[in-house]
Amino acid sequence: MADFVIPAPPVPSIPVAGGGAFPVRRVYCIGRNYAAHAVEMGHDPNRESPFFFQKNPNNLDSSGEFPYPPHSSDVHHEVELVVALKSGGTSIPLGQALDHVWGYAVGLDMTRRDLQAEAKKHGRPWEIGKAFERSGPVCPLQPVAKLGHPAAGRIELKLNGALKQEGDLNQMIWKVPEMISYLSEYFELQAGDIIMSGTPSGVGLVARGDRMDAMIEGVGTLSVRVV
Ligand code: MN
Repeated sequence: MADFVIPAPPVPSIPVAGGGAFPVRRVYCIGRNYAAHAVEMGHDPNRESPFFFQKNPNNLDSSGEFPYPPHSSDVHHEVELVVALKSGGTSIPLGQALDHVWGYAVGLDMTRRDLQAEAKKHGRPWEIGKAFERSGPVCPLQPVAKLGHPAAGRIELKLNGALKQEGDLNQMIWKVPEMISYLSEYFELQAGDIIMSGTPSGVGLVARGDRMDAMIEGVGTLSVRVV
């Protein structure tokens, strides 16, 4: 063991349904993975190469509260299927990609849209808009052993009871095995890695006091209060 010169920070983790915790190593997030969302953000929905950004492992949060972040007046919800890997590697063939998945959850890729737009305009990285404190609310993981691999099913988000986002997992431009295989060509994937798989259309503003209710058919539900 290393002789740490300051106390070692805790291992980031997310809860597992029924007990236990899943340790998080990295968080990869895909951009524009549902055609209708690409269009609403002003982009061509054709199948260009996928692109990814990252959140920090300790940005994931399962407290049920999302603290409204500083320096933004345009914070958006993005409901996404969360994929958790139990193993990894490099150059993973498509046909073996799903063998690396431990489980799935419902998550939110909370976004400071104004800061992201500013970063895009100047060709800067997106972290300031995407990788801030508690920017990844997530429900407890469900194991593949229970769920299988959800390739279709309704995904939605309600804000204060009103439907804002809806789609189907089968509308993903890049499917889960494709994302795993693609990422493994550029990075060494490992156990504990998380992939947030993109959001359907209908992203929009949240404010303090709002309640976000996210649901993915066959995966779970996630309720978060903006505080
Ligand atoms: Mn997203």
